[in-house]
Amino acid sequence: MRSKRLIVVTGGAGFIGSHLVERLLAEGFRVAVVDDLSTGRPENLQAVAHDPGLAVDWAPVSRSRALRRWMRQASAVYHLAAAVGVELVVRDPIRVCRVNLHETEAMLELAAPRRVPVLLTSTSEVYGRSARPEFGEDDDLIIGPPTHARWTYACSKLMDEFLAMAYAHERGLPIIIARIFNTVGPRQTGQYGMVLPRFIEAARANTPLRVYGDGRQTRCFCWVLDTVEALVRLQHCPQARGQVFNVGSTEEVSILELARRVIQLLGSRSRIERVPYARAYAPGFEDLRRRRPRIAKLVRYTGFRPRTSLDEIIRRTAAALPA
Ligand code: UDP
Repeated sequence: MRSKRLIVVTGGAGFIGSHLVERLLAEGFRVAVVDDLSTGRPENLQAVAHDPGLAVDWAPVSRSRALRRWMRQASAVYHLAAAVGVELVVRDPIRVCRVNLHETEAMLELAAPRRVPVLLTSTSEVYGRSARPEFGEDDDLIIGPPTHARWTYACSKLMDEFLAMAYAHERGLPIIIARIFNTVGPRQTGQYGMVLPRFIEAARANTPLRVYGDGRQTRCFCWVLDTVEALVRLQHCPQARGQVFNVGSTEEVSILELARRVIQLLGSRSRIERVPYARAYAPGFEDLRRRRPRIAKLVRYTGFRPRTSLDEIIRRTAAALPA
């Protein structure tokens, strides 16, 4: 029988959000989604669209009437709604600030009266220019200057974190902050700059995979369902409240190596094309050389470890695409 508990997921039609919604419905929760469809898509929820446990409102958090009603009975909130993606950030920094500050504040304000636990998703971008080999939750954060639009996203999400902590301290709101590192899988679009869907698309079309810079920059890519598992475990962990957690994989790969593996695993005839940063992004864009989470804290609190290897991730993501 379906549980009576109602869970709110903002950004539930997005890439990570839609996988989370499916997971929560499968567990028997009722799920209410608020999404303004700015980067989310209703098709992402196609598989569960007729599930009686799902309710949706296609509106921003700050303007959703349904959300006000749902918050009177919600037992937890996953706040994923945000303006994301490096290209979007560089193109439209006003929107990034507006959405990431205003909508999060609206969400916290709605959760505060009944102290509904909120898991706020943040980003590895907040580690900014850190040159450490691994990023830990207590590190100082070194963000670039406001003359570089690139840092708008990091700064807006960091402000979300401070705001959430302020609600925790002043209003007793149970808050968990999850800093999500590179996450990949089905439904992620390359439209806003993300590298893996772009590489897979190019490899399938036998067109060049465009590697920016020297390609020696590294990332750790986490399978989206592993990310969802971590978020769910955090939400169920009362000791995690009031704290910040990195969520991601620790399998590090250079972007050049990623391109090679995609070509090899998909049996593609594509070649690799190096593209100077100045041509790939706006002039003055700064890429990060390395980004790897320390996840000891997440493991300690939740027992979570990412389980899916990069090769498996590439295979599964490609297999989920229409032929
Ligand atoms: N990248 C690339 N080709 C692309 C898109 C991205 O070489 O078509 C590079 C990008 O410069 C970065 C890495 O891939 O070094 C990961 O980019 P993404 O935007 O996916 O994530 P983030 O930069 O936020 O880690």
